[in-house]
Amino acid sequence: MLKMDKPFHDPDIDPIKDGAAFYFIASNNCNANCVFCYDQVTYAGEGRYLEHDDPVVEAALQLCIKAGIEKVVFTGGEPTIQPEKLVKLIRRAAPQFGVKRKLYSNGYGLFADVEGSPLIEQVARTHIDILNLSRAHHDEAKNTEIMRAKKVSTVDEIRRIADLQEETRFLLKLSSYMTPDGVFSAGDMHRYVEFGESCGVNNFLFRAGGHVPDKFRKTTPESSLHHRINEEIDLDSIVEQLVADYGYTELSSRHDGKYHLHVLTNGKSKITIKKEFKIDEGDSKKINRIILGPERIARSSWIDDSRTIALPL
Ligand code: SF4
Repeated sequence: MLKMDKPFHDPDIDPIKDGAAFYFIASNNCNANCVFCYDQVTYAGEGRYLEHDDPVVEAALQLCIKAGIEKVVFTGGEPTIQPEKLVKLIRRAAPQFGVKRKLYSNGYGLFADVEGSPLIEQVARTHIDILNLSRAHHDEAKNTEIMRAKKVSTVDEIRRIADLQEETRFLLKLSSYMTPDGVFSAGDMHRYVEFGESCGVNNFLFRAGGHVPDKFRKTTPESSLHHRINEEIDLDSIVEQLVADYGYTELSSRHDGKYHLHVLTNGKSKITIKKEFKIDEGDSKKINRIILGPERIARSSWIDDSRTIALPL
């Protein structure tokens, strides 16, 4: 086992839930500085990268095999910030998982040349089933204002990624984080969907963040730049409006405490709307997810660093 002071979870004892997912935080660094970032929570910008041949990656994979974990997400920060390293990490880890292998990116390095072809083409044809592409707003100027990025996907690049869906079983999902300055109403969402459809995208995710309790907030040099809002977004009335005013059909919905999930369609596209955090950071010892980042400590919570997990090292 990886030596650490009293890990919160021992996977040999604490149950790993069915449907649990493994998250590789490839890097905490990001080319963007979104106003809605997990502010004091995950944005550290320390410059390290999770190397594919790091023994903790091997230990993580062993744990996943033993526990039967099938879902994997490669995320950040921005995982494409070091394209060659990301491809190596994906090649090493992705084959151990099932069919819902996801990459979260804002598009920064998706078209970087890795061994003679763009990163996204390599992974979409082989190890990644879903690309969750972050774009805060359909309007270019607003998107720039909100994401404050050096580079994110251009409209042309979104079209090229969407075209890959024709050739592979890979799926592109366009993802927006709801903020008062950005996508915030049913009308905004409808226009966002229209924008995506004009690029060939038919899957959308709108996220309304959950509340991060003060005790889990951390101060970083960047934290004053971020102003995470939340909770006050009334998703139910937005969904009602999408149905009544814009002709969407609600396929399913789920409310579980502060966790909300709505799935809608407009006949052409699938739209998922969710309030992000299921506030499950309580006393449960059940492991819902395993998160491993470049700091090399596995944990089960996005917001509570003390929920460490012993890895079989
Ligand atoms: S893309 Fe935005 S939200 Fe995602 S890690 Fe970078 S700054 Fe944070």
